[in-house]
Amino acid sequence: MKFSRQTTLRAQATVAGVGVHSGLPVTLTLGPAPVDAGFVFVRTGLEGSDREIQATADQVIATDFATVLGDRDGPLVSTAEHVLAALRGMGVDNATIEIDGPEVPIMDGSAAAFIAAIDQAGIVSQPAQRRFIQVLKPISAKVGDSFGEIRPYANGFRVDIEIDFTNPVIGQQSCGFDLSPERFRREVGRARTFGLMCDVARLWSAGYALGASFDNTVVFDDERLLNTEGLRYADECARHKVLDVIGDLALAGLPLLGAYRSVRGGHKLNHAVLTALLADRTAWRVVEGEAVRRTTRPVGEVGRGIVGGRIAAAYGPDVS
Ligand SMILES: [Zn+2]
Repeated sequence: MKFSRQTTLRAQATVAGVGVHSGLPVTLTLGPAPVDAGFVFVRTGLEGSDREIQATADQVIATDFATVLGDRDGPLVSTAEHVLAALRGMGVDNATIEIDGPEVPIMDGSAAAFIAAIDQAGIVSQPAQRRFIQVLKPISAKVGDSFGEIRPYANGFRVDIEIDFTNPVIGQQSCGFDLSPERFRREVGRARTFGLMCDVARLWSAGYALGASFDNTVVFDDERLLNTEGLRYADECARHKVLDVIGDLALAGLPLLGAYRSVRGGHKLNHAVLTALLADRTAWRVVEGEAVRRTTRPVGEVGRGIVGGRIAAAYGPDVS
């Protein structure tokens, strides 16, 4: 990581596209936010005033097809994971994400458009040390036949993914990355959403995935890849799972120092591991400084800071 200080965006940048489930047009604007703000969605275009929602794990209300944030009054922002992955992956700590519809636009199914928007806006450092959640002991979770685990890791943040599809074209894939903004941009950020034709057809007939197309989804049938342009990486499906992990774990509220591994995982598993981690106050602490040089230091009593306080308040009971 280049910055030991917190970062935000220098200016605003806008992308426009369609929601993958609604198929409706939506405009998203990334912008600056103050020190310790984290990622904040601002939902515009509603009757009455705009509504803000913090991108934290306690605001997750669904993880079935995508990660959905909301509150007592219902869902506010669906498919949050790719734009959050871009911000976290590119080393942005604080940002507003203004959106005038219920879903983040799917764009090309990857984080590429959001990375381009971050590039356009520019990243600036802020007058405060970057803060991290340092994992202190292994925490794992199982969801169905998927398994996920996060462990202490001395070298920053790492993600390892194994997938194992009965579909013979996808099959077994694995990949792992020690993440940096450069690596994220080059090797993860362009990996697209993928699906099976049989599932897509079922979703379409049920009124979901109305915005899904070959322009934003890598689609397989039992024998081949159906997109004529081919794959961006031979293991694009596994790499997209890395992208989803980065976005889902961005809901920790701070960057993580730890190694995450998932086997046959998805949004539900990522959320389960993160929730289990944050619920165990002996499993992590907040540190600040430069991660790579390992000069991080604990920040007093965890739970008194702005972010620490929110986490401490939110993670008594299970909130999934
Ligand atoms: Zn995804």
